[in-house]
Amino acid sequence: MSTARFDSYFVSHGSPMLALDPGEAGRFWAKLGSSLPRPRAALCVSAHWYTEAPIVSASPQPPTIHDFYGFPPPLYQQFYKTPGAPELAERVRGLLAAENIPCAVDPERGLDHGAWVPLRSLYPDGIPVVQLSVQPRLNALWHCLLGRALAPLRDEGVLILASGGAVHNLGEMAREGGEPPAWARAFDRWLAEVLAAGREEEFLDWTHKAPSPRRAHPSPEHFLPIFVAYGAAGRGARGALLYEDFTLGSLSMAAYRFAA
Ligand code: ZN
Repeated sequence: MSTARFDSYFVSHGSPMLALDPGEAGRFWAKLGSSLPRPRAALCVSAHWYTEAPIVSASPQPPTIHDFYGFPPPLYQQFYKTPGAPELAERVRGLLAAENIPCAVDPERGLDHGAWVPLRSLYPDGIPVVQLSVQPRLNALWHCLLGRALAPLRDEGVLILASGGAVHNLGEMAREGGEPPAWARAFDRWLAEVLAAGREEEFLDWTHKAPSPRRAHPSPEHFLPIFVAYGAAGRGARGALLYEDFTLGSLSMAAYRFAA
């Protein structure tokens, strides 16, 4: 356990198949987990929990949710045994309430694969964890403000881990793999540049300023978690690219660390 100040992180969680064969991304996640001081708990903001208004999970023993369909049976026998953190859920609710952001508490919700697949590589022995939902009908600035409200957690031994996809277009994935297409590379590169330079206005206005934003994200839920991680790092934050790769053609696996 540590009371060191934690930076905040964004990981692209890729295909659920990484639960069976974590590969390079899994090795990166494991290395990331072992390179950090051990947090008291983790707050995971996953693309796979989206709601109209924020909800935080508070189950003391969050079940593993297999929220994917049509995959090989062994994938449904994968589990992540880890405790929840009901007191952290209450702290999250309180921090958001202090910024006039109402947040409901769900005492039963488990961990979706956006949370448990990377977390299981980061902390194979488990880590007390809660999840916070994203709001696909609300914009980047909203999610940045959620992050800002949660920034004090970084001084309380809590790792803020956002999990989504830097480029995520299921309709344009190539099962046979191959070189990433130019539009996917361009979006991925734009993101790395904007975050390295801390160009906040451009980042938050990504639907207008990024190359091919609708092609990179036909729906925004896999991108929105990154704004929470960014906001949690505080004003003037920059994002350092920690890992980059493409899988299934156009699916970016980029991961970032945010610090002001
Ligand atoms: Zn996903």
